[in-house]
Amino acid sequence: MKKFICFAAMTLFLCGCGDEIFRVSRPQLGTIVNITVLCDQKTAAKATERAFAEISRIEDLMSPYKQESDFFRINHANGPVRLDRETFDLIKRSTEISAATGGAFDISFASIAHLWNYKDPEFAPPSRQEVNRFLPLVNYRNIRLTDGPPAISLPRGMKIGAGGIAKGYAVKKAVEALKKEGVGAGIVEEGGDLQVFGSKAGGPWLTGLMHPREKTLLLSIGLTDMDSIATSGDYERFVEYGGKRYPHIIDPRTGYPAQGMMSVSVLTKDPVTSDAFATAFFVMGVQAVKEFLKKKTVPGLSVILIDSAMKMHISRGLKKRVSLLEKTTDVVWIDSD
Ligand code: ADP
Ligand code: MG
Repeated sequence: MKKFICFAAMTLFLCGCGDEIFRVSRPQLGTIVNITVLCDQKTAAKATERAFAEISRIEDLMSPYKQESDFFRINHANGPVRLDRETFDLIKRSTEISAATGGAFDISFASIAHLWNYKDPEFAPPSRQEVNRFLPLVNYRNIRLTDGPPAISLPRGMKIGAGGIAKGYAVKKAVEALKKEGVGAGIVEEGGDLQVFGSKAGGPWLTGLMHPREKTLLLSIGLTDMDSIATSGDYERFVEYGGKRYPHIIDPRTGYPAQGMMSVSVLTKDPVTSDAFATAFFVMGVQAVKEFLKKKTVPGLSVILIDSAMKMHISRGLKKRVSLLEKTTDVVWIDSD
């Protein structure tokens, strides 16, 4: 299930310039990738092919399962590992986001993730001792990056995973590929992450945010050129045990799955930033996110937070662009972009 639904593609177009809307979907990155473009048919065919190829290339670099991927090599090495420049830059960016979020975003979460395998049908929560045994490995400060030539070395036992940022990066690269092929407007959507570019018939693209517990839309939001939204939720990838829900996002401070949020959407102009901060804010919870937004560390960043009581906290900067579809929902407006 997608967290954001793009209904622009289905409802509107006709720009009177011979362009049409084309939509192509493929399974990639463990989800369904949808690419929508507004252009002529020939351009659409070539550009979408390029964009999907770009996403595959990124998957090959970042996947923890593919034996040739940089992440697989890093996690199975006993010393420094030479890296592709792209992987190096993304890991570096990840550690910068870790520093900006007080460690809430931390790619070394992967050192402990095996204890919380939400895909395991026999899942049972690990003991406190087990969590404590692996917890010291979760610390982005111990990731050693050396430049020229780019290389990484991890302390023994530490593992890293790009699951909280790779999708955003793939969205960004796919949009770049479409633009390079001459597409003037479109949407790239990968599960909970999307970016729009250009405009359709001069107006905003409309997307809708899903209710985290029901199959309905909670709100719609108008997006303009390069707007990118990422949503982290507790309702797609999680496991339940003893009536308790364990989502797939780990709180690096405790080693336990983050609690307290149902859904976190972040809107910026950069899909990598949106993706990573959505994951970080899911860990931080409403109060810490509000404190963070006050400091304006990332200008132009807006949020839609849904806490565990279904209360929505939305950046005031989005007020004119958001239409609430469920009037009963409790909404608080946050002072931010
Ligand atoms: P989704 O994969 O559903 O789009 P997210 O973008 O929030 O959701 O990414 C969640 C993924 O990020 C997890 O499946 C895991 O791979 C990774 N992850 C989990 N906890 C953290 C964390 N604290 N910091 C960085 N990445 C994390
Ligand atoms: Mg994310």
